[in-house]
Amino acid sequence: MAKKKFSSPELNEIEALTTRLLHANQKLEAFEKSRTELLANISHDLRAPVTAIRSSIDYLTTCDSNTPWSEVQSILHLMDIRTATLESLIQNFYYLFSLDAGSQTFHFERIQLAPFLEEYFFTAKIEQKYEQRHLFLDIPSDMEAIVHIDPHPMIRVLDNLFTNALKYSHIRDSITLGARSEGNQAVFWVKDTGIGIPKEDIDRIFERTVKLDSSRGHENNGGGLGLAIVKSILECHHGTIHCESQVGKGSCFIVTLPVSVS
Ligand code: ADP
Repeated sequence: MAKKKFSSPELNEIEALTTRLLHANQKLEAFEKSRTELLANISHDLRAPVTAIRSSIDYLTTCDSNTPWSEVQSILHLMDIRTATLESLIQNFYYLFSLDAGSQTFHFERIQLAPFLEEYFFTAKIEQKYEQRHLFLDIPSDMEAIVHIDPHPMIRVLDNLFTNALKYSHIRDSITLGARSEGNQAVFWVKDTGIGIPKEDIDRIFERTVKLDSSRGHENNGGGLGLAIVKSILECHHGTIHCESQVGKGSCFIVTLPVSVS
């Protein structure tokens, strides 16, 4: 049978299609790898609180009428903390999976970004947990950018960035919420003067598999999924996030969102 000869445009088209298929395949492989790693992490992360709860129960079963009530109470308190960790891990994993699967419903609204951020800032400023930080706002009074966002997950983004700025900083450090319009983008950032992040770790902090050095002084009771969730939420808004940081000087998390035109 005579072989069909492809014309030059046909060959170009085949080549372009092959490249696209290769890219799609690479993306699928990367996605599959991150899912497998996430599942391995889930089993690993769930094991620690479950083991702690199990040993507390084992201990409680050995108690009798001679066991001081204060001892029982402290075990119950520990179980309460571990159960809360477990609940928060499960909620985070579930939320991340639902974002991945596209089953999370968003209720987008056209919102003026500056007042939305200002309201968040002034609510945070009176919260007791920020009492020992200096909170600053850096938003131009004439900023008029309107964005198409679901306010609830966007508040979750801000909560995560603010909570991290608090967790990874010290007494009297500062936390700044800033924003600017840049062409057809609205940009906002949360900047702290805290402990900073080593250069080699910066890209990894948005991964679902991140396990940074525990010597950085914080028990990881959020499962290290906060920034992965933040990134997924922003992607659902066609936005981006990146981090600039210097160890010992602080970190700045910069978010971009497309400006809504209609
Ligand atoms: P978690 O805080 O629960 O570990 P995140 O996903 O929110 O999870 O953050 C991932 C990691 O990024 C943290 O464990 C921490 O090492 C680093 N990180 C995040 N925000 C900051 C910050 N503002 N300053 C220093 N390190 C940070």
